[in-house]
This record gives sequence, structure tokens and C-alpha cells, in this order.
Amino acid sequence: MYYGFDVGGTKIEFGAFNEQLERVATERVPTPTDDYALLVDTIAGLVNKYDQEFGCEGKIGLGLPGMEDAEDATVLTVNVPAAKGKPLRADLEAKIGRSVKIENDANCFALSEAWDDELKDEPSVMGLILGTGFGGGLVYNGTVFSGRNHVAGELGHMRLPIDAWFHLGDNAPLLGCGCGKKGCLDSYLSGRGFELIYAHYFGEEKKAIDIITSYQAGEAKAVEHVERFMELLAICFANIFTANDPHVVALGGGLSNFELIYEEMPKRIPKYLLSVAKCPKIIKAKHGDSGGVRGAAFLNIK
Ligand SMILES: [Zn+2]
Repeated sequence: MYYGFDVGGTKIEFGAFNEQLERVATERVPTPTDDYALLVDTIAGLVNKYDQEFGCEGKIGLGLPGMEDAEDATVLTVNVPAAKGKPLRADLEAKIGRSVKIENDANCFALSEAWDDELKDEPSVMGLILGTGFGGGLVYNGTVFSGRNHVAGELGHMRLPIDAWFHLGDNAPLLGCGCGKKGCLDSYLSGRGFELIYAHYFGEEKKAIDIITSYQAGEAKAVEHVERFMELLAICFANIFTANDPHVVALGGGLSNFELIYEEMPKRIPKYLLSVAKCPKIIKAKHGDSGGVRGAAFLNIK
């Protein structure tokens, strides 16, 4: 049995998966806000409960919005204050008495997609999240690649490519990022970025969903904005693909529901790739909201 925990800022989602990778249990509990001991007890308590229910010792994976420090394995996170700076994996292992894997939630998202029936034989799968922020994860042969510092896939903090800067023109917005730098892709390609770019060029704030509705109605500013955004997305994706050359790319997050992306990317991306490169297959993520917990559970498949 594989147990996955998706630890978010407000709730912890638990999922148990059998050997056929089918989900056989689900539970959601609130995330303890500032009480670390309670956080550890909550996770350990769910493990004990489902061990008894299934009569086994499940393998444990945990996804969270952050990562482990490469040197001392303490948790680096903003959104789960109770876990911040704490040796969560070591404390859980001591409490439960078996090994625990911890990964960034975007990496779990990518892993969940990579273990979809249709993708599980692909040598590499990249997950890209166009949500509140922009991030991603890399899976090679069914295993997350998180790098020396666990920042592989933190694509939101790559800076804009030079082609993107030329494309945005003389009035290009130089947007700040939560990491303290300027020009990070997170501020341009996320749903928030989609809105920020619109506000920059048209001087008015509009929600992404409303911009898309206006685009579909043929409204001139929205059409101009979507044209600008699609080309920007193609430029940035092409740069990412040149670095990693994924076989398949699965998109998640709210903006991934904008169907036009799947029509436009294959047309726009090739001119920014090396001439020998083909655009990878770009698909909408199949497991959506359950990706985090699935991916966390599947950390133990290999
Ligand atoms: Zn950044």
C-alpha cells in the first residue's frame, strides 16, 4: 500500500493507493497552523489508522509547498508555517518507525501525471503548473529528478529569455518576484502574471477568467493580450524544452484550462527550438486536484 500526504497551507489530504495504483482511501484534515508537534502527530495518526484498516505498513510519501534543505533536511516553506525550519522527515521517521519521503508539491504533480496509464512508459515527463504561480517538475523513468539542492523544476524562478524581452517591446513590464529578483517567469506565466501583464498594458485590473471571456467575445484588448501572452508562453516554454527536452509535458493549474494553449503552443514553439528539435506533446493534466496526493504516494513506487 502506498500512502500519500499532500500538505497544504490549510489542509492535509491523505490518500491510500493499492499495488494497482488505485485509490482506496481518502481523508482530509486541517493543517495545524503553528503547532509542529500536532502536525507530526496528525500525520502519524493517519498512518496508524490506515495501517490498522488495511492490516499492513504503507509506504509513506509527503508533498508540500517547499523543499528540504540539501544540507540538513529541514523544511524550507512559507505556506506551512508549522513545518518551517523543522526536520520533518526525521521526526516522522522516528515517530512512525519507517522511512518517509518528502518532495516539493509541483514535483509530486509531475510524478502523478507520469504514472498515468498512458504516460507511464514515457522516458521523461515534465509537469508545468500555470496556477497562482508558475512552477514545474521533472520525472525521468518514473522518478522525480530534484537536483543537488532540490530546486530542479523551480522554473518559475528562471528569468525571462531575451526573445521574450524583445517580444514584449519597449514598454515591457519588469515584474518583481517573491524570491526578491525581477523578471522571474513566475510573475509572467502564472494566472497572476496573465492578469499583471494585462494590467500593465491596459491600465486596468481584470481577472484572468474575465479576460478569457472577453477574448472569446472578440473584445479588442483581450484579443491583443492573448496574442501577446501566447507568444510569450511559447518563447518561455521553448527555452525550457531546449534545456530539458521532455517527451511529454502535462499542464496543470487554473490557466491550463484555457484550451487555446493546446492549439497555439505546437504552432508557435518550433521556431524558438533548435532546428533538429520537435515540439513535445503538450497535454492537459489528467489528475488535476488529486495530483499532489497521488504523486506523494508514488514517491515510493521506485
Ligand atoms: Zn523568483
